[in-house]
Amino acid sequence: MTALTDITARLQAACAKAGRDPASVTLIAVSKVQPLDRVQAVLAQGHRVFGENKVQEAAGKWPDFRAQFPGVTLHLIGPLQTNKVRQAVALFDVIQTVDRPSLAQKLAQVMADLGGAPALMIQVNTGAEPQKAGVLPTEADRFIDDCRALGLTPQGLMCIPPESEDPAPHFQMLATLAARHGLPQLSMGMSADFEIAIAHGATHVRVGSALFGARVA
Ligand SMILES: *Cc1c(COP(=O)(O)O)cnc(C)c1O
Repeated sequence: MTALTDITARLQAACAKAGRDPASVTLIAVSKVQPLDRVQAVLAQGHRVFGENKVQEAAGKWPDFRAQFPGVTLHLIGPLQTNKVRQAVALFDVIQTVDRPSLAQKLAQVMADLGGAPALMIQVNTGAEPQKAGVLPTEADRFIDDCRALGLTPQGLMCIPPESEDPAPHFQMLATLAARHGLPQLSMGMSADFEIAIAHGATHVRVGSALFGARVA
């Protein structure tokens, strides 16, 4: 059994337990820092949804992989600097890390310019950790409204709970916030906790090391 079939089986079991349709949860294979042959192997098994956390790193591998394996959907799951927005809009199908007014403004401007339209999610710093990206929970309501006022159409919310805490309350906070704003997508859950995230309504889980093996530094 490959790691992909194992994770897929676990995802399906978590959906069954939560009374959810497995088709309502997208597995994002987080390929950051992984050796190319490991990524290629997962592509060869038919998987097509991937996540990267750095624009530059993604630009170095995904144009070639896309040419080889049609139908790839690529998610940006790491912080986005405004000076990389143009490149990110051209490269990614989904940008999950919209988290501040300057970035939202730049995205609106570049998407109007290029006519390109990646789907967008808003990252929420549910643990209000100073070192972590994401809009603070206390500012999230206003930021979501501001994004919409700029003409952006966010599809959902994303979070990375604090490492040492029970993730469940963070997943619940994100789900409640999304429901309040009518946002259908929830990107939450990683290798260690994707089954818990599915129980709380995740529509996208981001799994790296459990799928590819430990990241090689
Ligand atoms: C690296 C990363 C992941 C995957 O983490 P694993 O624990 O290896 O599954 C998920 N989400 C984000 C935002 C990441 O940067």
